[in-house]
Amino acid sequence: MTKTRKPLEKYRRIVIKIGSALLVDRKTGLKTTWLNAMCADIAALRAKGIDVLVVSSGAIALGRSVLDLPAGALKLEESQAAAAIGQIALARAWSESLSTDGIVAGQILLTLGDTEERRRYLNARATINQLLKLGAVPIINENDTVATTEIRYGDNDRLAARVATMTGADLLVLLSDIDGLYTAPPHLDPDARFLDTIAEITPAIEAMAGGAASELSRGGMRTKIDAGKIATGAGCAMIIASGKPDHPLSAIENGARSSWFAPSGSPVTARKTWIAGQLLPAGSLAVDAGAETALRSGKSLLPAGVRHVTGSFSRGDTIAIIGTEGREIARGLAGYDADEARQITGRKSAEIAAILGYAGRAAMVHRDDMVMTATGLRRDMDTERDTADA
Ligand code: GLU
Repeated sequence: MTKTRKPLEKYRRIVIKIGSALLVDRKTGLKTTWLNAMCADIAALRAKGIDVLVVSSGAIALGRSVLDLPAGALKLEESQAAAAIGQIALARAWSESLSTDGIVAGQILLTLGDTEERRRYLNARATINQLLKLGAVPIINENDTVATTEIRYGDNDRLAARVATMTGADLLVLLSDIDGLYTAPPHLDPDARFLDTIAEITPAIEAMAGGAASELSRGGMRTKIDAGKIATGAGCAMIIASGKPDHPLSAIENGARSSWFAPSGSPVTARKTWIAGQLLPAGSLAVDAGAETALRSGKSLLPAGVRHVTGSFSRGDTIAIIGTEGREIARGLAGYDADEARQITGRKSAEIAAILGYAGRAAMVHRDDMVMTATGLRRDMDTERDTADA
């Protein structure tokens, strides 16, 4: 047992993500007894002065059971309609159940753009923070009625991680039918070992969750590890635990099997948290070894160290920075539009004015607009405290 595992009451603000299967039974609909027990656990945390936010799945599953739609994949417009029907019932159930514990619930429905565009992100954050200030428990889901295939989270694991970083939570609890991380899928590999603490999400840990294109994605282990990268990178611990027992939070407290992911050692500024957690970088810059070393020691990225520009982005868009091994090492806000960046790639900063016809910035990505994202590198660079620098 390491210090990664702490009693839940030691945390200040907890985001709890609840998977559809815990809340909704295909045949009988909403699992009211389970929900009431969950709300009692939430009330116990609230009574200790802990802020609680819930990211609740189940809209599509519930709508589907109300509509009695056949098993199998739904068409986009079917799942949008199912979500519309399910979400209203889901929110009502949460509101009613929490009210028996004397707690007021507030519904927040987010789309991808609400967390990816900085202005909308700040707006959503302000509303959620206000709800918490008023003592309410935000019940959050993706707005599946308008989310399209291309523009959606699709899984609530990453959405919950984004909510955790957005609100400065110090713990994210992912409750589903999986009790934690194994070295291999336990139903396929009898030698799979359970991991109870994960100090860092290394490439080896990522490999255990299956590749990016794995079947396990969408609510599987892959999206949980992605959630872990977003959360722990912003200084928020994460637990993966089974939500199957009634009172799953009490079960964690009482030592039920669960995997704990340690937060990265040094909190980054709120702005850098937003940059690092962007899901869709608009492009990338491949850098040379010298630039990679410079970035690790906290320097800005100069055009001279860039080897190649990919994608089409405008100044201010988030872009990925790719190291010599082909892996992303950092993310930052572009100092130049993509076509300008291409023109000054590999050139000295002093040459920029002559090439572009105006004196631009010396840096392709300034250090203040950059966050190291590769495992093990973050600690070298981010020494600032979170100053909520909105
Ligand atoms: N937002 C979806 C719903 O409420 C769930 C997504 C997920 O299962 O992660 O039905």
